[in-house]
Amino acid sequence: MPELPEVETIARRLQSVITGKQIQSLNIHHPKSFVGNVAHIEGSTITDVARQAKIITIHLTGTHSLLVHLKMTGQLIYQDESGRVGGGHPTADWVQTLPSKHTRVSLGLSGGAQLYFNDMRLFGWIKAMTPDEAAVELARYGPDVNAPEMTLEYFSQGLARKNAPVKTAIMDAQWLAGVGNIYANDALFLAKIDPRRAASSLNLSEISTLYDELQSVIQLGIETGGATISHYHNIDGFAGKYQDHLQVYQREGLPCLRCGTALIRIKQGGRSSFLCPSCQK
Ligand SMILES: [Zn+2]
Repeated sequence: MPELPEVETIARRLQSVITGKQIQSLNIHHPKSFVGNVAHIEGSTITDVARQAKIITIHLTGTHSLLVHLKMTGQLIYQDESGRVGGGHPTADWVQTLPSKHTRVSLGLSGGAQLYFNDMRLFGWIKAMTPDEAAVELARYGPDVNAPEMTLEYFSQGLARKNAPVKTAIMDAQWLAGVGNIYANDALFLAKIDPRRAASSLNLSEISTLYDELQSVIQLGIETGGATISHYHNIDGFAGKYQDHLQVYQREGLPCLRCGTALIRIKQGGRSSFLCPSCQK
């Protein structure tokens, strides 16, 4: 599942190529993937691309914008005569002819360019929304982990109220958006905190360390273009490099990078947690 750094990377890549282009057509290949009225979109020009939580907003002239959530398996792929850029769930659709059988929505842009929304599992969506509707959608999420509103005070007050395991707590998007499984695991390792600890049990020093490590793993994720854990990890314009920096994620059985103890994997809330049983307290 694309996490905040991967989604941010896609938004930045798209911003550089689609801003200023007119949407000449919007074609729905699967009705589950698009919500809204095509007539509100066609003919509009793209003015900006932004990300909040894991939602990409394609801002348009006119009354509506397009909000995109990639969920588990979504991709956004831009193509013009000079090539392709994009990202999302790494599959053969990154490189094969489009539209494919996974293409759910396609946009014909000025200059002969195309923007494809592919989604194998059909959990993702594109919604045409007014600014008020978009605000309601985005209000379902807490501040981004790397936003100015996510102060140490906000973080520590939130954790103090939560009896859930700290890993589950920091992945609660209604409170704090953008901490997915990869970065939650790595930040807790770097902060030397056992993911099973109750969030409310952390002392001030641990909270402060975890706050800093969350910021730094998300920052590194963005700088490296996110993680591409797949054999498509070398596709230029799509793949990220965070997988070269993983601390514990999917390293079960391998030696801890700090103390050499074999890392273990446990299940928490249906997700895998990876930790060092020796140096995460
Ligand atoms: Zn260790």
